[in-house]
Amino acid sequence: MQKKRRNWRFKKSFLVFCAVVGALIILLLSVLIAREMRPPAKTGNPGSAAQGQAELMTEGEQTKPDKPTAAPETIVQTAPPTSLPPVTDPNEKVLYLTFDDGPSKNTTKILDILDQYGAKATFFVIHTYDGCEAQIKQIYERGHAIGLHSYSHKFSIYSSMDDYFADLNQISDLVYNATGVRSKLVRFPGGTSNTISKDYCAGIMTALAEELPKRGYYYFDWDWDSTDASGNTVSADKIYQNSIKAAQNDDHHVILLMHDAPIKTTTVEALPRVLQYYKDQGYRFDKLSETSYTYHHNPNN
Ligand SMILES: [Zn+2]
Repeated sequence: MQKKRRNWRFKKSFLVFCAVVGALIILLLSVLIAREMRPPAKTGNPGSAAQGQAELMTEGEQTKPDKPTAAPETIVQTAPPTSLPPVTDPNEKVLYLTFDDGPSKNTTKILDILDQYGAKATFFVIHTYDGCEAQIKQIYERGHAIGLHSYSHKFSIYSSMDDYFADLNQISDLVYNATGVRSKLVRFPGGTSNTISKDYCAGIMTALAEELPKRGYYYFDWDWDSTDASGNTVSADKIYQNSIKAAQNDDHHVILLMHDAPIKTTTVEALPRVLQYYKDQGYRFDKLSETSYTYHHNPNN
């Protein structure tokens, strides 16, 4: 009888032990899952499902016209930084506007709007047409930074390191001929986190992200997306709403992605409102430089 009772006690203790261990495992799993689902760790930024979307949505060009891979609301925040930005004063609010894929017929309009707000910006240019040097010179002379995006903007530049640098040297020469300055600022077509490069060469983005600094270049991604490339004609209102999210989330250092392609007329339309909003929130407008705040996406290839 006593033995039976002891046995039963032992079974009971064993069951309690199992239950406790089980509960601990479940707790541990929940913590791990919660951590996985957490948004990118950038102070002040919103929780969103964007991290999972970062792979799909990069610089916008990967998406087919009018067929965004995700709702614009979910792709505003992109991948987390791989290095801490050299922020000297975290209380200072700075907006770094960046315009990719120009120059275009919209460039002069953009420059005029920027002038109205005393704003400086960064233009990551490509070879849009023969003779586009004149417009690049104009951007530079009006006080903005010229960055190297690509000469051809074809994703085949990612076929090899040599192909990439052959294209980069071409746009570097074009910018040098236009401005007399060798720009060291770079933005990868599709951004560092693009996955389309996988179709051309496995591991190329990881290799390039390591190689560029060795060759004296500074590459920049963006921490907020205006989503003007999520379709051919995104409404000015949507661009405005997505562009101001960084300020609404009290992010003090903001590199905002916009495009200066001919079709992006609604970007021009939204721009004054975006600038006015940031101005009202106490931001100053600056261009990127070799010593400025930076933001890197993690390579996905
Ligand atoms: Zn581009």
